[in-house]
Amino acid sequence: MEHSTRTLTVDKKENLYAVADGVTGMKIIFVNVYFVRGSEGPSGNWVLVDAGLYGSAQRIKKVAEAHFGKDARPSAIILTHGHFDHVGALKELALEWNVPIYANHLEIPYLTGLSSYPPPDPSVGGGAMAYMSFMYPKKPINVGGLVQPLPTDGSVPGLPEWRWFHTPGHSPGHVSFFRERDRTLIVGDAVVTRKPESALAVLTDDPEICGPPTYFTPDWAAARQSVEAIAALQPNVIASGHGVPMRGERMRDELEELAKYFDQLAVPTHGRYVNQPAVMNEQGVISVPDAVSTPATKALKIAGLITVAGLAAFAISRRKKNNKANSAESPLDNHPYYGEEMNLSVYGEIPEVEDNELLRRSGPKQHENSAQRYPGNRDFIRPDSPSNEYP
Ligand SMILES: [Zn+2]
Repeated sequence: MEHSTRTLTVDKKENLYAVADGVTGMKIIFVNVYFVRGSEGPSGNWVLVDAGLYGSAQRIKKVAEAHFGKDARPSAIILTHGHFDHVGALKELALEWNVPIYANHLEIPYLTGLSSYPPPDPSVGGGAMAYMSFMYPKKPINVGGLVQPLPTDGSVPGLPEWRWFHTPGHSPGHVSFFRERDRTLIVGDAVVTRKPESALAVLTDDPEICGPPTYFTPDWAAARQSVEAIAALQPNVIASGHGVPMRGERMRDELEELAKYFDQLAVPTHGRYVNQPAVMNEQGVISVPDAVSTPATKALKIAGLITVAGLAAFAISRRKKNNKANSAESPLDNHPYYGEEMNLSVYGEIPEVEDNELLRRSGPKQHENSAQRYPGNRDFIRPDSPSNEYP
């Protein structure tokens, strides 16, 4: 079948991907989380890999309950890394579910308020997403007391078939999760399946194996080694933090090519961390190279702001249109999708959340539309297609 060479079965309406046996992906605006079953049966446990954007906790819970039953909660939340778009709902979910969080020990300073990540580098260029990266939240979250290091033996708590691998570069304690049985790899942002710097690429789902987001990767030598290690695993399925999960021959070809020509394909031609990495250890960031500050980067900031304004305006007009078509949807169907996806103001406005605020909050704001979108990608499997395997 044609689709098996490219992307996976997908439920567009719910933004869910049937990734592999017992593995379901869920797209939250532009970032994915994964529900992974550890064992079968009614008492079978599961874990949540990554925790999406701020404000998505209730959506994640709803999908979890649809999958695993009412009041279902995982045995743990396990992180590929701690960037803001992977930990947005982390604190709220961990407190509500009362479950432990696991991350690589090198990632823990950024999860316990000890250190901020190295600043993103808008000077790498490549598109509006990169230009806007100066607005991304940089302050660390604090889930101290809830987070503990992954076991040093490579095992994954609650998932006996899986192993974790250190895949640093995009962040110092970045890890990937691999299941040998069917060679499924949950790869975080070490490899993504969508050009991450371009706002246009965020609006489409045409997948392609790419290196980690350039504006947010402070160690390119480590990132290259990680991609080489990932390619050497010869995964059948790659489920990344951004973009549609991919499988098959073309994915493997692209992955191999990326590993082989990493410097040409993935490393930006210029930028703050290109010649010199940020230095980090168990305490967090030790030193960072000087910022590349030129008149051009200032212009890029302005271009980024204009793009935000333009996309937001477009999103509003789009949403108005979509609302007419979708006014009869049930609340469960109210997922952020087309319109929300373009409302990139979400990047700059992730509020700080205090503990008491977390407990008080009744839930995220309701999103107003669930516009479905078929991006003209032949490899996409539509929910009504007979080969749809979900759930
Ligand atoms: Zn990241």
